[in-house]
Amino acid sequence: MEERAQRSEQAAEQARLTALINMAILDTAAEPEFDGITLAAAAALGAASAAISLVDADRQWFKARHNIPVPETPRDQAFCAHALALTTPLVVPDARCDPRFIDNPLVTAPGGIRFYAGAPLIAGGACLGTLCVFDPAPRPGLTAAQSAVLTGLAATAARLIEARRFWRAGQIATQVVDVTSDAILCTDRAGVIRFWNRAAEQVFGYAAAEVLGRDLDCIIPPAMVDAHHRGFERVRGGAESALAGRSIALPARRKDGTEFPIELSIARWGEPEGIGGFAAIVRDISARRELERERQQASDFLDTIVANLPAMLFVKDAESRRYLLVNAAGERLTGRSAAEMIGETDAALFPESGPAAEARDEEALRAALPRTDESCFVRADGGRVHIRTRRIVIDGPERPRQFILGLSEDISEARRAEAEVHRLAHFDTLTGLINRDSFLAELERRVADAIPFAFLSIDLDRFKAVNEQFGHATGDEVLVILGERLRAAVRADDIAARTGGDEFAVLLLGPDAEARARSVAQRLVERFAEPIATSRAIAHSGATIGIALAPQDGATPNAVRQSVELARERAKADGRGQFRFFSPEQDASARARRALEADLRLAIERGEIALAYQPIVATATGQITSVEALARWSHPVHGPIPPDLFVSLAEESGLIHALGALVLRRACADATNFAVDVRVAVNLSPLQFQGGALCEQVRAILAETGLDPHRLQLEVTEGLVIRDVEATFHELNRLRAQGIHIHLDDFGVGYSSLGYFQRFRFDTVKIDKSFVDTIATSASARAIIGAVVGLGGALGMKVVAEGVEEAAQMELLVALGCTHLQGYLFSRPVSAEAVRALLAQPAAPLRAAL
Ligand code: C2E
Ligand code: CA
Ligand code: CA
Repeated sequence: MEERAQRSEQAAEQARLTALINMAILDTAAEPEFDGITLAAAAALGAASAAISLVDADRQWFKARHNIPVPETPRDQAFCAHALALTTPLVVPDARCDPRFIDNPLVTAPGGIRFYAGAPLIAGGACLGTLCVFDPAPRPGLTAAQSAVLTGLAATAARLIEARRFWRAGQIATQVVDVTSDAILCTDRAGVIRFWNRAAEQVFGYAAAEVLGRDLDCIIPPAMVDAHHRGFERVRGGAESALAGRSIALPARRKDGTEFPIELSIARWGEPEGIGGFAAIVRDISARRELERERQQASDFLDTIVANLPAMLFVKDAESRRYLLVNAAGERLTGRSAAEMIGETDAALFPESGPAAEARDEEALRAALPRTDESCFVRADGGRVHIRTRRIVIDGPERPRQFILGLSEDISEARRAEAEVHRLAHFDTLTGLINRDSFLAELERRVADAIPFAFLSIDLDRFKAVNEQFGHATGDEVLVILGERLRAAVRADDIAARTGGDEFAVLLLGPDAEARARSVAQRLVERFAEPIATSRAIAHSGATIGIALAPQDGATPNAVRQSVELARERAKADGRGQFRFFSPEQDASARARRALEADLRLAIERGEIALAYQPIVATATGQITSVEALARWSHPVHGPIPPDLFVSLAEESGLIHALGALVLRRACADATNFAVDVRVAVNLSPLQFQGGALCEQVRAILAETGLDPHRLQLEVTEGLVIRDVEATFHELNRLRAQGIHIHLDDFGVGYSSLGYFQRFRFDTVKIDKSFVDTIATSASARAIIGAVVGLGGALGMKVVAEGVEEAAQMELLVALGCTHLQGYLFSRPVSAEAVRALLAQPAAPLRAAL
């Protein structure tokens, strides 16, 4: 009970203090009005001192004081504090006799207070303090008249405190109105302008003197004047203004006639009757409008960009995964309108690819950085699009809300192009089989994986002829058809490829590869041999197949390839149109030849081919008339290699041109150091005639070495003549036109036709050693030699017998009429220096057998 009373007492005190603060009077300077009241109170009551005491939380402060030395005292000493709850004056006749004040320092001090009277000051609805008087001598009390004066003066002081507050507020308002940037203007009820602040001058361009007394119409755009008048009339008639108590935007007019947007709030002023009217606060919002317009433009521009972005842009709520925004490109890409998508989730919109897209949203939310994914998007109509989507998670304006921002591009076209590039890079465009590079990669992989497999290398027979005969278009058709036959002969998991112009290859995988290789190869040989019906002709081809097995026929891709090639070469050598498995025994020599071939290439490049010279001796004089250049190659490991072997190697590999040039150049150079009546004979391979550049090459080498063409002899074999009769004779004629002698070598071993001698007159015929070997025992050998000698005599050809080893052979050959002899009997092939020594020796005619 007591507690509640205490609480309400506290609340009342709080309200009192708030009222005191609202008066804004504490600690203000002395003001004459208040001083006058204390002076009047002291005089009227005949008291020594008087004060207007305001009771603050812990002090009493004197707004006015008469004959009091201190501006304030602590509240617990204040007599006035005791008067706060009273409505009539508190009177203390003698403080020394009053237990409330008997110990008060203001009382106990020498000359302290004995008499006190204070009337409450009620202002702003609360008692703020007192107007009090006091004396150092006790008094009996106040007369009724004195009490009335004190109460009256207290009421005046209270009203003064309240008036002071309004006056202060007015003063502040005036200052604010003066400095605000808002235009403030007032009209009377007739709409005549009565107040015009400084800002109004700025905003409207009218000085106050120009507009005071004029109608408000002067600042209203002409188009709005009527509406304004109607509204003004209504409000004046008592209606609530639509504008009252809120601010609205309107156009207004400046002195110069320009219009601008304002924000307007209106209040009534003055008393309901009598002086008064309307006050308006006007804010020029053109700058704000301009800013808004710029913002709107920027926003519209951004919208245009988003709408026209050539990629799908979307925004989803991170929480609900629902679309919040989709641009036009997004509508095109998904096949759904933005209206359909917004507010929906991927899962609901796109049953096929939606859940996966949401899983990627999930990852994007977890990842700190933007993520890019490629995916296949299935449109609502079932169409598939490859898209690349970049997602980032962004914070919304109000955290913690987040959004998923995504940019999706249709990369189907790029994907298709990539696939096409891949196809071109890995497949043969004609047959659709994989190409050589891919095949070799597959081969490498299988070898690396150590999976057993069979490798079939297929060479097309007569394909060159097909091309030549029917043209390349037909050749292409043949390849396509054979490619199909190949594909039909293997399983889908086998690897079939076109590895060259007229070359196919197959890898058969698995442990039964060998058995399958046999049957597949057999089938291919049969199927490829069947007539090939193209659109223009029936062509014929065939397959020659080499087969190697891995891992037994090669531990590396290269070794397997070599094995398969050797097997294929053997299949070719055995007559084409068949298959051969690699055989270590049979193909070993071939392999060795390949190795030797590589060494030969190196030897030729390095000029490591030497020449030996073997003299040819004239029967009549015994003199050396010519020396035959014979190529020598000493292999760094295998020692001297027989020329028959390395020459045929060179012929097989195409090295023969380089070898031939090397021999010719060196022989011509050496010959310039021999006696001028000695000729040098150089052997030519038939292959050197191919290409048609031989004649020029010989001419160039003669010019280069300075050898007289008459001293050069070229030995050709019958094999040459057989190949291409006309072209060969033409070339031989061109050589002889330079003065070069042409020898027919190894006569008698080939398909010699005496008819050749009619077509081309050789300078010399060399009878093969095989005749010389049997001359002693074979009558037919002697008869043939005799016939050749007779023919030579008739046609003006010299006749050389080769390989003469014995004196007996020599004698018979001389007797038969050979004009020249060559053989170990006279000299083995020797070095250039040794030949020069031989040339220096005296000679004697060779003796015939009797
Ligand atoms: P060929 O042109 O018939 O050369 C003669 C071969 O018979 C030489 O063997 C020579 O050493 C050998 N020979 C000469 N006299 C005798 C003899 O009395 N008894 C025996 N047993 N042999 C004798 P070589 O040097 O081994 O040459 C073999 C073949 O190699 C040559 O046969 C020639 O066809 C070819 N050859 C050599 N050098 C070249 C060359 O530079 N270019 C071309 N294209 N072929 C060459
Ligand atoms: Ca020869
Ligand atoms: Ca010969």
